[in-house]
Amino acid sequence: MAETATSVQKVVIIGSGPAGWTAAIYAARANLEPIVYVGVAKQDPGPILPGGQLMLTTDVENYPGFPEGVAGPEMMMKFEEQARRFGTNVVGEDIVKCEFSTDGTPHTLHTAGGLTVKSHAVVISTGATANWLGLESEMHLATTGGGVSACAVCDGALPAFRDQPLAVIGGGDTAMEEANFLCKFGSKVYVIHRRDELRASKVMQERFLNHENAEVLWNKVVTECLSEPDEHGNDKLTGVSLRDTVTGDESVLPVKGMFVAIGHTPATKFLADSGLEFDDAGYLDLKTRSSETNIEGVFAAGDVADAHYRQAVTAAGMGCQAAIDAERWLGDKGLV
Ligand code: NAP
Repeated sequence: MAETATSVQKVVIIGSGPAGWTAAIYAARANLEPIVYVGVAKQDPGPILPGGQLMLTTDVENYPGFPEGVAGPEMMMKFEEQARRFGTNVVGEDIVKCEFSTDGTPHTLHTAGGLTVKSHAVVISTGATANWLGLESEMHLATTGGGVSACAVCDGALPAFRDQPLAVIGGGDTAMEEANFLCKFGSKVYVIHRRDELRASKVMQERFLNHENAEVLWNKVVTECLSEPDEHGNDKLTGVSLRDTVTGDESVLPVKGMFVAIGHTPATKFLADSGLEFDDAGYLDLKTRSSETNIEGVFAAGDVADAHYRQAVTAAGMGCQAAIDAERWLGDKGLV
C-alpha cells in the first residue's frame, strides 16, 4: 500500500460503518486491494467513532444472522475482521479533503496527516450522525446504555423499555415513526415538541396519535436528563426536566427511555467544494438504483446517501452495491 502521489490505488473507501466494511469485503474479494480510511474518534458535537453509529448502540437485534442479538461495537469488529481477512488495508486516519478529477485521471484524497492518496475509484461511506440536544447528562446516558438513544428502531425493543413510560424528542416524521414504533412496547409514549404544531406529515401524525398510549407535550424542551444508579451502579434515566417554551414553567416528566429524533447530519464536511452533488437535506445525491454519484469513479453508500432507511442492513447492502459498481466501472475503463 502506498500513501504518496506516486502510486495509484484501485479503490479507496472512506468510512468504516456497515457500508464501508461491506464495500471493503466485496472489493477485497474482487482483488481490488481496497484501502479503508476508518477515521479517528472525535466529539462533533456528539461522539463520533471509527465504526460509526453502531459503536454507540448497545444491542443490535434486527440484523439478520444474529438471532440472539449482538452488541453494535462487536458487530463492527466482526465486519472489520472479515474485510481484513480478504486483504483490506486499514488506515486509522481521516480524509479531510477530496479533489475529484473529471478528466479520467485518478482522484486525489488528502489525509489529516498531510499525505496525498491517489485512487481510480472512491467509495464514500462516512455515514451520518444523529443530532443531539447537546446536554451533558444526555450524552452521558447515551454513551453508557443509560436509557438515552437516537434510534428507537435499534434500541426501543430492549427489555429495559418494555411497559415503561418513554419520551421521543422532535416533531418531524422521524419522531412520529420512532414514537409509533415505541407504542408497541412502552406503557406510555410522549412526544416532546418545542412548538405547538408538528412538522411531520399528517399521515405520520395520525398513525402515532391513534395509539391509546400516545400523547404530545406541546411547547416543551428538555433541559436535563435525570438519572439514578441501578443495582450495579450504572446510571439509568429516571425522567427529564422540561421547560415550557411559552410560559417558562419548569416540570419533571418521569420516563425510563428518551429517544432523540431531531434530525441527522450527513458526514460530508470534507466534501465541500469537491464538485459532488447533494440533495436538499445535504445527503449525497445518487443516480437511481445505483451507487454512482455525479462524478465518474466516485460512489457512495450508506447513511451519507440515505436519509430514508438509515439501517445497518440497508447500509451494508449499499456498500455491496458500491463495490460492485466500482469493480464494473474499473473493468469498463480498463483500469483492472
Ligand atoms: P426534520 O424533518 O428536520 O424534523 C426535525 C424535528 O426536530 C423538527 O420537528 C424540529 O422542530 C425538531 N428539532 C430540531 N432541533 C431541535 C432541538 N434542538 N430541540 C428540539 N427539537 C428540535 O427531521 P426528520 O424527522 O429526521 O426527517 C428528515 C427527513 O426524512 C424529512 O424530509 C422527513 O420527511 C423524512 N422522513 C420520512 C419518513 C417517512 O416518510 N416514513 C420517516 C422519517 C423521515 P421544528 O419543527 O420546531 O423545527
